[in-house]
Amino acid sequence: MADAKLKAPRGTFDVLPDDALKRRELHRRGWAVLGRAGYRPFETPVFEDTDVFKRGVGPSTDIVRKEMFTFEDQGGRSLTLRPEGTAPVCRAYAEHGMHKLPQPVRLWYWGPFFRHERAQAGRYRQFSQVGIEALGSDDPSLDAEAVLLLAELLEAAGVRGTTLKLSSLGTRESREAYLGELRLYLREHEGELSQDVRARLDQNPLRAFDADHQGTRAAMAGAPRLLDRISPEDAEHFAEVRALLDGASLAYVIDPTLVRGLDYYTRTVFEFESHKLGAQSGVGGGGRYDGLVEELGGPPTPGVGWAAGIERILLATESKFPGAPRPVYVAIDETGTRREAFGLLTALREAGVRSELEQAGRSLKGQLKHADRIAARGVFIVGEDIRWRNMDTSEQQPVAGVEEAVQIAVGLLA
Ligand code: AMP
Repeated sequence: MADAKLKAPRGTFDVLPDDALKRRELHRRGWAVLGRAGYRPFETPVFEDTDVFKRGVGPSTDIVRKEMFTFEDQGGRSLTLRPEGTAPVCRAYAEHGMHKLPQPVRLWYWGPFFRHERAQAGRYRQFSQVGIEALGSDDPSLDAEAVLLLAELLEAAGVRGTTLKLSSLGTRESREAYLGELRLYLREHEGELSQDVRARLDQNPLRAFDADHQGTRAAMAGAPRLLDRISPEDAEHFAEVRALLDGASLAYVIDPTLVRGLDYYTRTVFEFESHKLGAQSGVGGGGRYDGLVEELGGPPTPGVGWAAGIERILLATESKFPGAPRPVYVAIDETGTRREAFGLLTALREAGVRSELEQAGRSLKGQLKHADRIAARGVFIVGEDIRWRNMDTSEQQPVAGVEEAVQIAVGLLA
């Protein structure tokens, strides 16, 4: 008996050609938006030393506690498949001394990320993100620019009707006093909270705002809000970000419960949601992370960035992505030879014509049917001589030879 059929691992998927074409097109549109804003492409390895995420993302976050694919290599080092892109970029900024470059350094990336999450529609264990990071300036215009660029990218990708949520988490220093106050409040309501929130009450009280648990949500409705407690400097920074977004006529809602799932955020945080996505409504989000580069061994450096999920963008898009351009087909009738047909095919491709050859032993009728299925613009039928059949008009004409055939096909492209 044959062995059991193998499948792609849970939470992963194959990108079949139709989808691969859409992803390429999205990449092209993304680059157009980010490139004209001065962002340059950047790549980091798919795995990093586990410490990059433990220190960067924070040991009490969901990501580090339960979602990382961590393994030991043959030399006994602990490595982790990257669950997010910001900590690796900050590691690279410090490693390559990028603080010596003109600031801010603007980078964008696109690639696979890995989280051991419960797999469902829109949530995978291997997914792809497009993201940007701007390092080396705490100017509020960089925050506003980042938000606008994500809005622009979503627009270019055909994702409409999103809601932009915005808040400020203040700086680490201005947050300390508030966290004490929040812990006190959570202790007073301990009986109403989920076990998970209770377990992290000391380490990570802000997580309570992110909980799905009913009782926790009810208790959090009356909790003190960080946004009301941030320092005057943080409030001024946030007001400026909002004024710039207002000036650009970008609509947003202030959501004081927006905390995001990573520890490194300071000041501005934001998220775009799409009602088209159901439970996994986040299309993309990010914020400022002043201090993260320092945390990873570099000089004190402010930074701001975001990431958006490619699969979620494609689930939410209303855009019709163009398919592959239509080919020309080279058919062979019973009087033609493979060598002649192959010669014509090569000449067409050399002239830049997208062309395909009959390679499955079909009858001429079968070949014309196939040409129709692949939406060919026309067919060269190679027999004793060559004939051209325009598939849109069904008209046929004799062709003098390979040279004229190429002229006809190139004429179609013009
Ligand atoms: P995050 O930094 O966790 O907010 O992730 C940024 C974006 O990546 C989200 O808004 C999603 O679009 C996407 N994303 C995050 N996790 C997953 C996942 N497990 N599967 C698919 N997309 C994801």
